[in-house]
Amino acid sequence: VKEKLELLKKNTHNTVNSLLDTLALDLAAKVDAKITKGEEIGLLEGIPFGIKDVYMLQGTFATASSNLLKNYKSAYTATAIQKLLDAGAIPLVKENCDSFGHGSSSENTIFGAVKNAVNTDLVAGGSSGGSAVNVALDYTVFSIGGDTGGSIRQPAGYNNIYGLKPTYGRISRYGLMAYASSTDCVGPLAKSIEDIRIVLNVMSGKDAKDQTSITSSEITEDAILKNTVKTVGYFKNFIENDAIAPKVKADFLQSIEKVKLKGIKVKELDFFPSDILVSTYYTLAMAETASNLSRLDGTNYGNRIEDKNLKETYAVTRSENFSEETKRRIVGGNQVLSQGFSDEIYLKGLAIRDQIAANFTKDFEEVDIILSPVTPMSPPKIGDSLKDPLAMYLSDAYTVGFSLGQLPTLTVPQGTQTGLQITAAKNNEELILKFANFLK
Ligand code: GLN
Repeated sequence: VKEKLELLKKNTHNTVNSLLDTLALDLAAKVDAKITKGEEIGLLEGIPFGIKDVYMLQGTFATASSNLLKNYKSAYTATAIQKLLDAGAIPLVKENCDSFGHGSSSENTIFGAVKNAVNTDLVAGGSSGGSAVNVALDYTVFSIGGDTGGSIRQPAGYNNIYGLKPTYGRISRYGLMAYASSTDCVGPLAKSIEDIRIVLNVMSGKDAKDQTSITSSEITEDAILKNTVKTVGYFKNFIENDAIAPKVKADFLQSIEKVKLKGIKVKELDFFPSDILVSTYYTLAMAETASNLSRLDGTNYGNRIEDKNLKETYAVTRSENFSEETKRRIVGGNQVLSQGFSDEIYLKGLAIRDQIAANFTKDFEEVDIILSPVTPMSPPKIGDSLKDPLAMYLSDAYTVGFSLGQLPTLTVPQGTQTGLQITAAKNNEELILKFANFLK
């Protein structure tokens, strides 16, 4: 713990929003004392981990990498984090990310752009960029990210590690700052399938504090050793389009060949075009974030900027403290929800989401697993992607569909800074981990 705290303190990748050094050293001393007394310790006891700065951990800063919450301290602890603490894991750091999860590069933050673990000229990916880089550089053993439309899977791919977005609801969202509540998921980033399995087991479970949480069964160590996947599918239109970089396409087709050589049947599937997926996701995500962030007006939380009356105080607090990207989303979200637009845009988005879910139900009658690249491109240079927000949204083309479908999906590193995405039907994380092991 001490060693890793030192590394985090000195790191130049901008992964740290705040260090939890006092708490971490205190918890580590307790584990030491247990070991000295010869007491048995649990699987996660003494294991250092990181937390994306959108989770509550009582008494510590929870900034969402935003000016608005720069000085905010958590009043309580998120369920997922509490479960890790109860298992003896040691939180080291609140990690840099895109403000409120808004972004795909970890540049939309007041703490400075997170630098990629493999090449510091490149973006780390986002929004859970600090979490991915901390794991990749061994500053933490695992980190807890948040994934609304790809924020765990995409930076995992960009930094050559594993990242799991579980089935929606498998892990309680209580204490995770809401971005888009209908697709927000809590999940782990780590360097091995085994670590992903262990951390997922600890955090999973129904929680009375989150009405959308679900029950699930534990995934045992043995359960993921023997592959049972017989048929794999992939979306033809993800691979046959102009947006995919030739290298990403070649890597993916090579994975498909490998799967075939291992005796698995491969089927081509049809899916919605990328522009429909991205526009549906951003319509709903912006609508939900406009609603969720309306509470941040400087009265109950955050960095209030006083003005002549209450209305002006709200306006100045929000316009001075939110980033350009967050404001773009609040304005966009309020527009799609407003009279004259909501039927045409928001309700249409909801209808397409249902069609996407129906499409997946049909797919999983034919195949056990769906494979896809995580992103159409490899990570861009820091600074480049900020110039074109629309291009940044389009880079989420391969992750957002699975989010809208609320499916479990895992990024498997390929050593190429892109990653392979393995998706299964709802609640079938076990099958994903099995298949990931089988592909190793
Ligand atoms: N890049 C996507 C967005 O900006 C996903 C972010 C996330 O999953 N938090 O909405």
